[in-house]
Amino acid sequence: MLLSLGYGATGATTPLQPIRFERRDPGPHDVQIDILYCGVCHSDLHTVRNEWGNTVYPVVPGHEIIGRVTATGQQVTRFRQGDLVGVGCMVDSCQRCASCAEGLEQYCENGFVGTYNGEEMHSGGMTYGGYATNIVVTEKFVLRIPDGLDPAAAAPLLCAGITTWSPLRRWKVGPGQKVGVVGLGGLGHMGIKLARALGAHVVLFTTSPGKKQDALQLGAHEVVVSKNADEMQAHTNSFDFILNTVAAPHSLDAFLVLLKRDGTMTLVGAPAEPHPSPQVFNLIMKRRHLAGSLIGGIAETQEMLDFCASHGIVSDIEMIPVQQINEAYERMLRSDVKYRFVIDIASLKGTAPA
Ligand code: NAP
Ligand code: ZN
Repeated sequence: MLLSLGYGATGATTPLQPIRFERRDPGPHDVQIDILYCGVCHSDLHTVRNEWGNTVYPVVPGHEIIGRVTATGQQVTRFRQGDLVGVGCMVDSCQRCASCAEGLEQYCENGFVGTYNGEEMHSGGMTYGGYATNIVVTEKFVLRIPDGLDPAAAAPLLCAGITTWSPLRRWKVGPGQKVGVVGLGGLGHMGIKLARALGAHVVLFTTSPGKKQDALQLGAHEVVVSKNADEMQAHTNSFDFILNTVAAPHSLDAFLVLLKRDGTMTLVGAPAEPHPSPQVFNLIMKRRHLAGSLIGGIAETQEMLDFCASHGIVSDIEMIPVQQINEAYERMLRSDVKYRFVIDIASLKGTAPA
């Protein structure tokens, strides 16, 4: 077994702390990676605090992983020692069902294996994520990081990037369309950058008036403070598509009425408690759609990374040593992130579990 040192939680109310654990030895199809950087997603916090009710402890979070290949199994063809690679939210899937066949591994009918808090297919134990020194992943789920992308700032592309890219592509966002992004956090700031690069007219909805200037700099054409009824009203019946990234329950009606006929609002935010049910008439009267979307497939993730490299897009990050992770979670809850924390994994070296 391969030894790993990480940061994780042993219960829903305990802070993250150093943890030693084991990875499987790399098999013929596996890539062994030394982790350099790992982004901090709100899903990490939901999971650590068992807000979705499915956490198995100890949990080592982290699914926005950038690292260097240190070893490859004999059957591995696409990667070599020294390559800069990425790992996102999935590390395996059945590879037999219709969704896997379509490259939509995130909808694997037999359940994909999450990068952390998932059932490891090889050892039968649990998977542990990227707040750690290393990881072993089957080649199929390893992404190539194109030249020219700053490695630390590229980390959040592996979840925040693909989770916003996939619905923008699925609903064919492009020139001539008016697109809303709700919430300016990790996902939201990538949503703005990607929708803008795809050619849409982008409007950011925020509850934080202080983020207005940042949103414009990130690429939004307009910013609306969603608590201001008059500002909201001015956009009634005007959007083709709205991407809702908010991590807390809120009224969906306030946004549904902003869609034009046949418009779609897609939810990617995954709050612990449900949103209040929207008014059915807001959907019926203009044949509006309310949809959801889960991360994105592996091929689509590579497509997004390549698009980001050719358009000079990375995340706006605040680098932290792993020792600041508990404070970073509190700041994330206060919407005080500009706009993604990334852990410098070098800070783990020399850390000893209690
Ligand atoms: P984040 O960085 O914390 O951003 C969430 C943003 O939502 C905040 O910055 C804030 O933006 C807004 N917000 C927070 N509380 C709010 C409230 N009570 N009312 C209205 N707006 C509020 O989180 P993230 O990492 O982007 O993740 C967002 C959500 O997506 C999480 O629930 C996460 O689990 C989920 N997620 C889903 C997928 C998927 O595949 N579907 C993938 C990754 C993450 P403003 O300050 O601008 O209002
Ligand atoms: Zn995530």
